[in-house]
Amino acid sequence: MIDTRLSFKQHLAAVNNKAAAVMGALTKILPNIGGPQGERRKLLSTVVDSIILYAAPVWAEAKNIHVREVVHTHRRSALWVSCAYRTVSDDAICAVAGKLPFDIHARELRRLYSEPGAKPTATEKAIERERCMYVWQRRWEESLKRRWTYKLISHLGQWVKRKHGETDYYLTQILTGRGYFMEYLHRFQLAESPFYPSCPNAIESAEHVAFHCDRFARERAILERALGHSASPNDIVQDMCSSSAKWVAVRAFAGKIMLRLQFIEWVRKTQQQKLQLQLRNGDELFPDRMMTNTDT
Ligand SMILES: [Zn+2]
Repeated sequence: MIDTRLSFKQHLAAVNNKAAAVMGALTKILPNIGGPQGERRKLLSTVVDSIILYAAPVWAEAKNIHVREVVHTHRRSALWVSCAYRTVSDDAICAVAGKLPFDIHARELRRLYSEPGAKPTATEKAIERERCMYVWQRRWEESLKRRWTYKLISHLGQWVKRKHGETDYYLTQILTGRGYFMEYLHRFQLAESPFYPSCPNAIESAEHVAFHCDRFARERAILERALGHSASPNDIVQDMCSSSAKWVAVRAFAGKIMLRLQFIEWVRKTQQQKLQLQLRNGDELFPDRMMTNTDT
């Protein structure tokens, strides 16, 4: 769709409608938990990318291609690939899902296919991809959002080009810091405090849970036996990318601790609901109790 100002806003809005419909269908078929993970999701999500990037060589250099709706759909597909929470930032989710930001991808297609009948060779494609990775890495280093994910995945090339290893709902929670952690629940007003009662000296963040918390010492010992050294956020992703066995060990570790945190949160929430119900029933039976409470 060509508009008089060549802004391509109309075109992007039209392709976005199609892509969003496909994304909606994929989310319905495969929710975050269960079903195929990682690579198979990534493959399915390329359908969404192809729709968004249709005719990219024509519009990639247009002035403002960051149409909010398109960024949103691309983000949804990255969230879906890695089974992540919706609150993960754009930069972090592209990194975890290993998906090029859509504007960088569009410019790559422009450089490769802008000449009529262009048939780039494998070498030309590889060189272009290296250029994109360089731009993406610079942007990732400068991004101020989600520094926890950056601490783990600081080299995008190593993470994206790995030949093995899939992420899942639990591993993604560790990688993004968004999940059943008191710090996260507190930030979104789902818990009163960012501390877990038996660990009053440290905020319960992804880093604390995975690398320091004594509650998970047994699970961490199993992981460290598989890694051959102590687990650290500075090199755990390097370990995961270096060997399939180490990836499996980290993923199993993430699964074990996140399932436990999920259970703890379920118990906490159930108790809270019970208490609220008891209070409400008590107030109905003794309406003057509320007044007394306020007075005191
Ligand atoms: Zn702890």
